[in-house]
Amino acid sequence: MAVYTGPKCRLCRREGMKLFIKGERCHTNKCAITKRGDNYPPGMQGWKRPRKPSEYGMQLREKQRLKRIYGILERQFRRMFSKAQAGKGNTGSALLQLMERRLDNVVRASGLAFGPSAARQMVTHGLVHLNGRRVDVPSILVKTGDVVSVAPRDRTQALVKGIVEATSAYQNCPGWLERDGEKLTVKVLNLPTREEFPLQIREQLIVEGCSK
Ligand code: SF4
Repeated sequence: MAVYTGPKCRLCRREGMKLFIKGERCHTNKCAITKRGDNYPPGMQGWKRPRKPSEYGMQLREKQRLKRIYGILERQFRRMFSKAQAGKGNTGSALLQLMERRLDNVVRASGLAFGPSAARQMVTHGLVHLNGRRVDVPSILVKTGDVVSVAPRDRTQALVKGIVEATSAYQNCPGWLERDGEKLTVKVLNLPTREEFPLQIREQLIVEGCSK
């Protein structure tokens, strides 16, 4: 599946907020948003007075934010949106929940990897097991009771233990996941609720923009 491989901080600058896509660096003073503020869009033309965005512009920005937080491109987003729309209940909340339930996101959110792209790479390289079975598809959706673990290879275990120690310094495991830092396992206690979504997203704008 295609992934964005360009500069990551540029995406945060475009969105005007921290998207935490670079891992450890996002929690230091080296972060571009921490250093220069959230009103510093990318480009060669220098700072321009921001124009009032149109309704379409706001909907588009919100959708781009969500895609960038999870490192997915348009086609996969569309698939997730259709799935959220097909389910019962609020489409916006369902969409956020589907995004959170992605296997690569569980690996990142539980601190087994430094950032979204490292988490995705761990999965595609077969370093992550789901319910004891090796998997290599980052978009698998976890369910309540699922157990995510790290491949039982000494080198991988040692590497991930180091990562868990480092990420524990700045990141807590979300309440819907239970991480065992010794065994390197993550249990899904329940599905995430809207309140547990970590960043500010106005999902209603996404639903309005995509439902036309
Ligand atoms: Fe975004 Fe992280 Fe770069 Fe900061 S360091 S601008 S949060 S990707």
